[in-house]
Amino acid sequence: MTAAPDGLPPLAALETARLDWQRDDTGEEAPRSADFDDVYFSRHDGRAETEHVFLGGNRLPERFAGWQERRPFVIGETGFGTGLNMLCAWACFDAHAPARARLHLVSTEKYPLGREDLARALAIWPDLASLAEALVAQWPEPVAGVHRLWLDPRVTLDLHFGDAAERLSLLDGQVDAWFLDGFAPSKNPQMWQADLFAAMAARSRPGATFATFTCAGVVKRGLKAAGFAWRKVPGFGRKREMLTGGIAAPPEDGRRTATPWFAPPAARPVRHVAVIGAGIAGASVAGALAERGVAVTLLDREGPGAAGSGNAQGALYVKLAAETNPQSRVYLAGLLHSRRWLARLDPGQFLWSPSGVLQLALGKKEPARQARFLARHPLPSGVVEGVSAEQAAERAGVETGAPALDYPDAGWVRPDALCRRLAETPGILLRRAEVTRLETGLNGWRLLLGDGTTLEADQVVIATAALANRFAQTARLPLQPVRGQVSRVRLPPHAPDLGRVVCASGYVPPALDGWLTFGATFSPNDADGEVRESDHAANLAEFARTLPAYMAALREAGADLTPGGLEGRAGVRAASPDKTPYAGPVPDAEAWREAYAGLARNATRIPDIPGRHHAGLWISAAHGSRGLASAPLCAELIASRICDEPLPLEQPLADHLHPGRRLIRDLIRGN
Ligand code: SAM
Repeated sequence: MTAAPDGLPPLAALETARLDWQRDDTGEEAPRSADFDDVYFSRHDGRAETEHVFLGGNRLPERFAGWQERRPFVIGETGFGTGLNMLCAWACFDAHAPARARLHLVSTEKYPLGREDLARALAIWPDLASLAEALVAQWPEPVAGVHRLWLDPRVTLDLHFGDAAERLSLLDGQVDAWFLDGFAPSKNPQMWQADLFAAMAARSRPGATFATFTCAGVVKRGLKAAGFAWRKVPGFGRKREMLTGGIAAPPEDGRRTATPWFAPPAARPVRHVAVIGAGIAGASVAGALAERGVAVTLLDREGPGAAGSGNAQGALYVKLAAETNPQSRVYLAGLLHSRRWLARLDPGQFLWSPSGVLQLALGKKEPARQARFLARHPLPSGVVEGVSAEQAAERAGVETGAPALDYPDAGWVRPDALCRRLAETPGILLRRAEVTRLETGLNGWRLLLGDGTTLEADQVVIATAALANRFAQTARLPLQPVRGQVSRVRLPPHAPDLGRVVCASGYVPPALDGWLTFGATFSPNDADGEVRESDHAANLAEFARTLPAYMAALREAGADLTPGGLEGRAGVRAASPDKTPYAGPVPDAEAWREAYAGLARNATRIPDIPGRHHAGLWISAAHGSRGLASAPLCAELIASRICDEPLPLEQPLADHLHPGRRLIRDLIRGN
């Protein structure tokens, strides 16, 4: 498969699995791959086989029972299929692991099952029904990339959709036990290749084990060449033998030679983390850490959702570039992530609505840009679809006058209420205080507060939008304030409503509690939070450009759509020069300057020096006006890094978000 322009696998829909259903001797039906002519699991006793081969082969019952680490136990798998192996691992974990233990499952899948097939295949195992239900409910669209699912408060599943070797080479995380599954090497030789075994080895923890049902020579040779030791043990049922083994000293992960500056800092103690800023960026990091059992103090000078995240309603949407680039990948991953995250956080949909979002193709260039985007990104229609003006009008419930991109699963959120809800996560102490300075303390960080007191924390996350570079440690991170004002109008009874969020340059969501919100303005380098009548006028003009027929209908129904008839709210967001958020460890800018000064003379001469960071200091900022799509994923990224877990994004995308990327770029350019 040819790569996209950014060198990563194409951002596209994956082919879903084609199944045949066959009855076994007990009369139960079981899935078989029509393409590979092989079974997903043994039709006689698939569960017992999984328990023997993968759980027993990795000694999981004993290892789970003895698991005392704060980080989760990590299982990696090569072919997720129906998920039977992973559900059995979860059941085994529930039966054996201590209460505080956590389990992290990472599985690759090149041909995901359709949701209905998945549910049908798992229905064979009634005693796994509640586990299967959690999986089926969150089952992602078949889009290449990483999809994080929360199966249980203690169990996370990252589905890496795409080819196993390719996906594992992009994985940023380390594995304790491998399930080397996949159709038999004779039926699926393309998978059982040297690059797969090499990627597994490089992502193994010291002492990692593996188990596989096959004893094929190509597997034994491949594992050995990659550094795994194997032995034959009795197989399940009629299969005489299978392989188990492990890797004592995994090889160095060679990927960091090209970008040593992004090498992650070593894991540190993480009992108490201070998060500065309780907008969507900070509140979501605080929530992600608290859920992992970390004590969090969430500090904000005003309170949750008081500043840029304080609107009563905001659109959950993204604008993706016509040509694939890492930024678009991050935003699409973020949109899909936010969607699953919201459904889990608030299943009753009090804080959000998956109303769908239409991005209208208005203006001279936008129709061609959307057409290029669709041609280059064959994504499932459940994610994004090109629609005609008539279809757009039907979905919006009002005349749109233009074709559009429809994101049927995107929608809108109540950001202020969401921030408050996140701040109430058990384990978070909310404190109203301004942090004026950060100093290294005995065991981490000392925060100096505006009232003259101090607070000690093992680690600190800065999430104060445009103020995030006010600390000595972050002063070199370029950030720009961006003022944004939304307007809202009280709707008369029986005013027509929208069926989707409709956006062009601004956005108009369906009415909420009798108010229609629209906006927002976008004024770089303006940090003023006062509501301006001129901004109301600008929002009205954009509304008129986007939905003239709807505006006329509202006026006819009696809505006062004049600057004087509107209420509003202005907030200040932050943007980075490249418009990608900053999410990750804070680089020690002075150390980077020294270590990488030579790049100015020769950018190809890369010194073998890992990037130094302010140990235990992190940032999530520069989410601009798309924070609802980017901040929750960035929060998982940071919490995963802090807690020494696999990342919910491919390594090149985590690098793309790295707060030090501009420092390197400037050094290379000699700035
Ligand atoms: N572990 C599965 C379960 O518990 O149901 C059964 C796995 S099934 C025997 C093999 C799986 O490997 C299929 O879902 C297939 O689509 C997947 N697969 C085949 N080739 C692959 C590849 N190159 N990369 C990733 N997955 C692959």
